[in-house]
Formats: sequence, structure tokens, C-alpha cells
Amino acid sequence: MSAGCITLAATLARIHGAQHANAAPARLLAVSKTQPAAVLRELAACGQRAFGENYVQEALDKQRQLADLDLEWHLIGPLQSNKCRDVARHFDWLESLDRAKLVPLLGAARQPERPPLNVLIQVNIDDEASKSGCAPDHIEELARRVTATPGLALRGLMAIPAPHPDVARRAEAFRRMHALFETLRGRHPGADTLSMGMSEDFELAIACGATEVRVGSALFGPRR
Ligand SMILES: *Cc1c(COP(=O)(O)O)cnc(C)c1O
Repeated sequence: MSAGCITLAATLARIHGAQHANAAPARLLAVSKTQPAAVLRELAACGQRAFGENYVQEALDKQRQLADLDLEWHLIGPLQSNKCRDVARHFDWLESLDRAKLVPLLGAARQPERPPLNVLIQVNIDDEASKSGCAPDHIEELARRVTATPGLALRGLMAIPAPHPDVARRAEAFRRMHALFETLRGRHPGADTLSMGMSEDFELAIACGATEVRVGSALFGPRR
């Protein structure tokens, strides 16, 4: 087994260990920004299919190099309107939708013969001026726009809570996200994904209800 496979197995075991007894295991999104395609290929050989990228151009380059593999691509970085077409055509998931203006651009660009682009609404849960994400009050309006748009499927919420050193403060943000997710799911049954938790805190996020965790450095080592 390669070192990458051992780290992957250890991470999956930690995810499993953090899970409530009856819950489905949270999915692991391997966050591969700045990692070369060869590193993704190695992890794919160990069974990892879902990869998260922050920059559209970097992701497109890797997709070309890995076109022989059946991978699932998630955009997790901020999205500019001039990149909507590339994202709709070349990704499986967009996790960072945060404004209404992008919705028609994404829907129009998605190839009609493909399954819809899976969309998570990014929420600025700690109301940080520097962060992308919509205010909690705007989730429902965005959700309605996504569900009304052919080519898009509303799948849930994503957040990057402020990295408070205090674990209780982080857990509190995760719990607020979970409450917003439950409300969304009550209105939109297709919303089944709550993406939160990174290398430092994914076990805590799972304990608070995450269904997907986004893990970079714990899988790949420090970014290059
Ligand atoms: C980089 C990144 C991650 C992964 O961060 P790590 O701390 O390396 O696990 C997760 N989510 C987003 C949005 C990121 O940009």
C-alpha cells in the first residue's frame, strides 16, 4: 500500500469513528488545490473519487491530465461570473454559490444531456466581512432560484466557519449551520448535503451533523 492509501484509510477511519451510531458515514471530499495531478491519480488508485478544487483554471488543467479516470469534481472556491460557464460544463458539484446573479448563468451553460449540476449554497455563518457566502437570511431565496432552474439540483449548504481557537465557539457555528440545513431540508427534500469541517476540525463537524467533510492537508500534507 502506498503512503497515500494509508493516510486515506486512516482519515476514513477517523470519519467513521466520529459518526453517530445510526447515521450514514459522512463523505470525504479530498481537497487537492495546489497538488499536482499525479498526486490525485495516486489517491484515485486507492479508491478516492471526489476531489475539491478552489481555482477553476487549475482544476481544468488537472481534469485534462486525469481524463481517463472516473472522478467527481467539486468547486469549493469563490466563483466569478466569467467562470460560470466553465464550472457548469466541467464540474459535478458547485459548493460555493453565494449570489442569485450566478444562477441563470450556470443553468444556461449546463449541457442538457448531462445530469444537473449539484449546487450547495455557501453560508457566511460567522458574518465575516472577508468571507464569501450569503447571509443566513438569503438562503431560502437562493434555494428557490436554484430549484426553479433547469440544469441545476439544489443539494444543500456549505460553510467555512471562522477558525476560532475555542472549540466550543466552532461547535456553536457548526450547530447553527445544522439548524439552517434542517430548515432547508424541510422545504426542499432534495437537499441532503451539509458540507463543513476541514483537516483541523472535521470530527467535530461530523459530531455536529456534517454529511460531507472537506479535507486537504490531513490527506496530502502541507500545501506546496
Ligand atoms: C483549502 C480548503 C479546505 C481544506 O483545508 P485543509 O485545512 O487543508 O483541510 C476545505 N475547504 C475549503 C473551502 C478550502 O479552501
